[in-house]
Amino acid sequence: MHFQNTCDIIQFIPGRSVAWLSAPAWGAGGRWFESSRPDHNAPVAQMEEQRFPKPLAGGPNPLGRTNFKDNTMEEKIVVQDVEKERYASFSFIPWWDQEKIKKSRVMVVGAGALGNEVLKNLALIGIGNIFLIDYDKIVNADLTRSVLYRQEDEGKDKAAIATERIRQINPDVLIQYISGDVIWDIGLGLFRQMDVIIGCVDNREARLFINQACWKVNKPWIDGGIDVLNGVVSVFIPGQGACYECTLTDMDYKILGAKYSCPLLRYQDLTSGKVPTTPTTAAIIAGLQVQETLKLLHQMNVPSGKGIIFNGFTYESYLVEYPEKKNCLSHERYQPIIEINHDSSITFGQLLTIAEGYLGKGSFLELDRDIIWRLECKECNYQKLLLRVLGKVTFEEGSCPECNKPCHLEMRHIITRDDDLLLDKTLAQVGIPDLHIIAVRRDEEVCYLELKGR
Ligand SMILES: [Zn+2]
Ligand SMILES: [Zn+2]
Repeated sequence: MHFQNTCDIIQFIPGRSVAWLSAPAWGAGGRWFESSRPDHNAPVAQMEEQRFPKPLAGGPNPLGRTNFKDNTMEEKIVVQDVEKERYASFSFIPWWDQEKIKKSRVMVVGAGALGNEVLKNLALIGIGNIFLIDYDKIVNADLTRSVLYRQEDEGKDKAAIATERIRQINPDVLIQYISGDVIWDIGLGLFRQMDVIIGCVDNREARLFINQACWKVNKPWIDGGIDVLNGVVSVFIPGQGACYECTLTDMDYKILGAKYSCPLLRYQDLTSGKVPTTPTTAAIIAGLQVQETLKLLHQMNVPSGKGIIFNGFTYESYLVEYPEKKNCLSHERYQPIIEINHDSSITFGQLLTIAEGYLGKGSFLELDRDIIWRLECKECNYQKLLLRVLGKVTFEEGSCPECNKPCHLEMRHIITRDDDLLLDKTLAQVGIPDLHIIAVRRDEEVCYLELKGR
């Protein structure tokens, strides 16, 4: 979006402008160029200016550091039948690797305004494998900024409908979905299977979770945010500059903390759809998110730990570099990860046995989420054994049936051989999803067991 100077761009398409004048291949190649065909009477240098407008101030050349072969017209241009070859027009792009795009795996979190545009773009370019997660239902207000939904979809799951429409747009795309919450309903191993994760969410909790998940399994993620005519795209690559949590201010933590005052409401009261959004800004920001995804998939340099700020009022765009925080809590990395051929139907006792096989007697499991062990209302002398993950317990379930007040919650995230009540329970029964990765510790030693499936 920002080109430091036009020369950078011209450099890696040597001969093109000349070819444009002389080679009939461009005309035969398809309608693709007709709308942007420059004035042929203009000198070559001037033509390049027509094709690549002068840059705005600041910002890196996103393509400038890529190594391209010095392709000539003869090597590069393969005239294809545009009608038959779906991706023919992309084949004119020297660095574009459709096979690579076809083999790639991209997770999209959120199927709202941004998610719709991101999914559409991913489908158009032929991303081979998309995994979508969203917990929301379609309402009529979504129809003003969600190209994938129709009036008759009201009340249906966003993830299911978006998946159906993406399959219609491009049957080559293998898209799978979960109608659920990214924080509680998908295992960390799913993040590990992805090449890129694209965040299309509208709240800090989900962003923070995606950020931590990506850091744990060392995967890049691209966050997008929109607000009326403005937007921001941030690329976060573990180990390369700041992460999302590094960008949080004291005020952000206060807002996050306010939601945590009652743990049971922690993730059940997310403000969704309350950010004013327009389809225009969603298209711009989502376009950039997918463009950065493409660059990551092609091993191009992308500005990690930085935000691309777009101001739609003034048409100013610029990069900001987020300062990296020392001791940031999100920088935990899971290493080593050991894949085991089990799913969440394994019991805690069986998992401990496997853990002991790696780290010896005295190993314990350290979950990344709290299990509500017991509920208690001291006023009414009410007690209940629950053994369920925090996010899987509703506010009503966690309240005292006699006085209706929220109960005191006894929570744990460490599981040892002494926890008799839990050892025979399966991970699924307490609400731990398939493909999850569970930390195992013994003294100073640690390893991570990934439920790879049976
Ligand atoms: Zn950080
Ligand atoms: Zn009570």
